[in-house]
Amino acid sequence: MQGKIAVEEHFAIPATTGRSARYQSPYWSALQAKLLDIHDQRLVEMDRNGIATEIISLNSNGVQSILDVASAVDTARIANDALAEAIAKRPDRFAGFAALPMQDPQAAATELGRCVRDLKFKGALVNSFTQVGTDDTAVYYDLPQYRAFWAEVERLGVPFYLHPRDQLPSRRRAYDGHPWLIGSPWGFAEETAIHALRLMGSGLLDDYPKLQIVIGHLGERIPYDLWRLDHRLTKVPGRPAKKTMGEYFRRNFHITTSGHFCTQSLIHAILTVGADRVLFAVDYPFEDHAHGCSWFDAAEIAESDRIKIGRDNAKVLFSLG
Ligand code: ZN
Repeated sequence: MQGKIAVEEHFAIPATTGRSARYQSPYWSALQAKLLDIHDQRLVEMDRNGIATEIISLNSNGVQSILDVASAVDTARIANDALAEAIAKRPDRFAGFAALPMQDPQAAATELGRCVRDLKFKGALVNSFTQVGTDDTAVYYDLPQYRAFWAEVERLGVPFYLHPRDQLPSRRRAYDGHPWLIGSPWGFAEETAIHALRLMGSGLLDDYPKLQIVIGHLGERIPYDLWRLDHRLTKVPGRPAKKTMGEYFRRNFHITTSGHFCTQSLIHAILTVGADRVLFAVDYPFEDHAHGCSWFDAAEIAESDRIKIGRDNAKVLFSLG
């Protein structure tokens, strides 16, 4: 399919590339150059694989693991300005998501407003929970101090992409002795799914019913468990939210194909939320453009769904021209 729009594609600035240097390996060294490039190799690969537009976002953990609040605010602004400058060179091929300093909810709301109004960004991408002050903190956005932030997201009318990040060592003891499970193979989805479920179950989406939240990796495993979740919640009291989790998931969430190139999972996602709420993404450079595109272009789904997922849904959701 030509003219695809890919919506979970990452870049870095030198400050955030260094933060991710925790992965000391040839794999990570090769990724760094790709994260810092927007107009060269990335564009060549987009052309080769039928991607018309990429919506670019800062790499994980990005701003969310900066402990000092003032430094988080500065880094978000520097990254967003750098991205806006890069997009301005090829506005026909790139759009942007704002990185946000969630350490300070008011500053995050202000930065999102600036990015949408002045930089013409299409929404925000945040790497799950935020650390504030000390290493061992994990602040989730269902907490009361974020209600005014969400009010601003709803008022601005832009989607919020909830992206994975590393779990904290103190919260991953079940992985002891099995470090290969911690990150993208398993832990990322576990962490992001819990965050998404907290948002759904907290009542946030009763207060702000127009919020639109995007999650990647074909739904971070939530579609597969959604029926059982609601089935068991009929017997487990205490959830503040008024509707079923399925109702929020189908009304307030969108799912992307980032890094999950499996047709069975794609079909399950379509059956769960409908083809209007599934969007194409690669997760470059952590995944290959060629792999994601060749899979999607040949996936055994209806052509009308391929057009929606590959392009049209993103045009509508992100107000792309
Ligand atoms: Zn990603």
